[in-house]
Amino acid sequence: MQQFSLAIHGGAGTILKEDMNADLEKAYCNGLEDALAAGYTVLEEGGSAVHAVQASIVVLEDNLLFNAGKGSVFTKKGVQEMDAAIMYGKDLSAGAVAGIRNVRNPIALAAEVMLNSNHVFLSGKGANDFAIKQGIKLEPDEYFFSQFRYDQWKEIRDSDNYSLDHTHKGVEELMKDKKFGTVGAVACDMNGHIAGATSTGGMTNKKYGRIGDSPIIGAGTYANNKTCAISCTGHGEPFIRAVAAYDVSCLMEYKGMSLAEAMHEVVHVKLVKMDGEGGMIGVDARGNTALIFNSAGMYRAMRNNKGEKIIGIYKD
Ligand code: ASP
Repeated sequence: MQQFSLAIHGGAGTILKEDMNADLEKAYCNGLEDALAAGYTVLEEGGSAVHAVQASIVVLEDNLLFNAGKGSVFTKKGVQEMDAAIMYGKDLSAGAVAGIRNVRNPIALAAEVMLNSNHVFLSGKGANDFAIKQGIKLEPDEYFFSQFRYDQWKEIRDSDNYSLDHTHKGVEELMKDKKFGTVGAVACDMNGHIAGATSTGGMTNKKYGRIGDSPIIGAGTYANNKTCAISCTGHGEPFIRAVAAYDVSCLMEYKGMSLAEAMHEVVHVKLVKMDGEGGMIGVDARGNTALIFNSAGMYRAMRNNKGEKIIGIYKD
């Protein structure tokens, strides 16, 4: 049996220790711990990487703190429109959805697209129709509501901004600044197959059906057994223009870089030049992991069967 491993993220951005308090920090760490446990259990029991990343993402989507599924940010129109993607490195199969509403677990719909449609990427109403046809679990608007995301949106809804810095006070105030909260997971299973997945509500106050990097195969999400599985988080537009996730794969495939070298090049050199604030998590088919970001912080965690385990928020 070879090394198996899992890494997850809960978004990157201006996450500073001085802006946190102990309760909120604990809540984030518990959320990461639960999601890590869900995916790792799948791997430990011999399950596939693709099932492991899905299991982790569902836990994060169900957690109000993260900007995915329940607790997603509000669009300019005051609703939640979610994006998600999943890819399996074994056969390069992939599924993605964008601009979907009322789907409890967007990652489940992305997986359904991968497994049971002849397509890779569905959007908007059509994707919702597919969800209904396939019996994917739906929830009313209220299920996705969170007061702090609502307050965050209220402050900028009359402007053209889709992000804003805030000053902080209590937990509700602290949460308002958590505009990046996208979730992601990458895994390598005992058979050396890898997978990557990402799920998000996108950016607060987004309009015109804006879609970020998360559901775009090659930009925010990618997996190929030959190279790596990647899930990104951060300001989506530069990540799309950099084709960030696939660029890591290309640097490994064509330049012979290691996973960590390739991720470093994309996050700390290429994206920085494009003002691309954020980070990514990656795994290769030998079970190596890397969690790299150029922002102040990134909610992140990893575990492997060598006994290594990390849960982190800020820069070390
Ligand atoms: N990358 C996501 C987007 O641009 C946001 C995030 O990672 O928080 O939609």
